[in-house]
Amino acid sequence: MRVGLLGLQGAFLDHIAHLHRCGVTPCIVRDAQALSTVDRLIIPGGESTVMAKFLEAFGMRGPLRRRIDDGMPVWGVCAGAILLADQVDGHPGSLGGMPVAVQRNAYGRQIASDTHAIDVPLLALRAYPAIFIRAPRILSMGDAVAVHACMDNDPVFVQHGRLMATTFHPELHPGDAFHRYFIDL
Ligand code: GLN
Repeated sequence: MRVGLLGLQGAFLDHIAHLHRCGVTPCIVRDAQALSTVDRLIIPGGESTVMAKFLEAFGMRGPLRRRIDDGMPVWGVCAGAILLADQVDGHPGSLGGMPVAVQRNAYGRQIASDTHAIDVPLLALRAYPAIFIRAPRILSMGDAVAVHACMDNDPVFVQHGRLMATTFHPELHPGDAFHRYFIDL
C-alpha cells in the first residue's frame, strides 16, 4: 500500500510516526507524478488558502480532484477538511469532492484553539482529547455523509464513501486509531 502525505505546506510531518507504527512508510506528495503513484492520501492541517494556491501552482489541483472522483481514499485534517469541502464560507471550495459546507476559523482566532473531549464510538474512543486549532465548523452536509463524532452539536469527524474529514488533529495525539481506520478504508 502506498499512503501519500501531501507535503506542500502545514503539519504533515506529524503523521509520519503514526503511519510507521501502522506499518506504513508514507510517500510525501509534492507533485502530480508522486500523486499518481499513491493509492490513498492524507491532506494535513495547515493553511487551506496557501495549500489551495500551491495545489494549483504545482499542477496538482486537477489531478487530485480526478483521483478523488475516481474513489481514492482521502483524509482531510482541518485545513485538509476545508479543501475537501464542496462549499467554503458560502463559496464553491477550491478542490471539493465531499458534499459538506464549512465555515473557516469558526471557533475564533488561534488563541481560541483548544482540546475537547469527544466520543468516537466507531473507533471505541471515549472522552478522546481532540485538538482543535483554528478549526472549521461543518455547517451542513449531504444525506450520504456519515457523522462519526460530534463536539457539542457540531460534526467533527465525517465520512463520505472513502473520503473522511476531521476538523481536529489526530496526528498531535499519541494514539493511532484514526490512522489505522484510514489505512483500512
Ligand atoms: N484555519 C486554517 C484554515 O482555514 C485551518 C487550521 C488548521 O488546519 N489547523 O486553513
